[in-house]
Amino acid sequence: MGNDMLKGKADLHSHTTASDGLLSPKELVEWAAAKGLAALAITDHDTTAGINEGISAGKKAGIEVIPGIELNTQIGSIEIHILGYFIDMKSCRLQDTLTKIRDSRDHRGRLMTERLALCGIKLGYDEVLRQSKGGAVGRPHIARALVALGIVDNVQEAFEKYLNPGCVAYSERYRLTPSEGITLIKESGGVAVLAHPGLLPDDSLLYSLCRMGIQGIEAYHSKHTQVQSDFYSNFANEHKLLITGGSDCHGELINGKPIVGNVTVGLSNIDAIKKVAKNIT
Ligand code: AMP
Ligand code: ZN
Ligand code: FE
Ligand code: FE
Repeated sequence: MGNDMLKGKADLHSHTTASDGLLSPKELVEWAAAKGLAALAITDHDTTAGINEGISAGKKAGIEVIPGIELNTQIGSIEIHILGYFIDMKSCRLQDTLTKIRDSRDHRGRLMTERLALCGIKLGYDEVLRQSKGGAVGRPHIARALVALGIVDNVQEAFEKYLNPGCVAYSERYRLTPSEGITLIKESGGVAVLAHPGLLPDDSLLYSLCRMGIQGIEAYHSKHTQVQSDFYSNFANEHKLLITGGSDCHGELINGKPIVGNVTVGLSNIDAIKKVAKNIT
């Protein structure tokens, strides 16, 4: 099943059941190894709970598992996702902040089901918790619960009708600013990278993020075009930033397989990240 093309390649963006992915850390790592990847970063939203299981599975399956995180930060009405690599999971400041964010996710999830109830949609919060399998609660879990109830046909429709900003059920939650997210990752010994810049509304934000101390750019991502990938890798080179890339796999199966490994970078990109990370033992 392994693909020779993925030998020596790394997928540096993925989600597990610890946040809004569909596969457990062990299942995801086993898929990554079966596809022939040399390394996989687990970058769940606002939690490091899947990392240890992933690392153990990686040791058994012969694949390097890199500890990571994705923080969905916000400035004004713009969402900016920041990836952190090689963060110290034992950092109290990191874990205290992540707990605060997850508590807010939980509160927001309840509020959103209450708002759905006001529209006549009876979705118990228990159903959302069942979808989240004990992981950090997110809108994708509410979307999947709405699909399971037959209220919408798919997750996309759930977001468009109910869950996107401006929709009836949308509710804000506590978020860090990009600057706070970058600082938190760096102070936890990690390396802060701007996730999928191609999804930002405006490339001029790149300059602000540079001033905030971003250390790398995810030039390669499932939702980037070739033109965008070229533009962001050139930008990274010009500004002496690290270049990363990954599939952002959430475990959905396409032709029976998850998309993990569909977007990769070489191991030299990991070596460059390791040189900058302070938390390498
Ligand atoms: P939350 O962190 O709870 O606000 O949910 C945000 C997450 O939902 C993102 O990280 C994506 O994984 C997912 N998401 C956002 N918009 C959509 C969409 N239109 N369709 C499917 N998933 C989405
Ligand atoms: Zn997600
Ligand atoms: Fe993201
Ligand atoms: Fe992601």
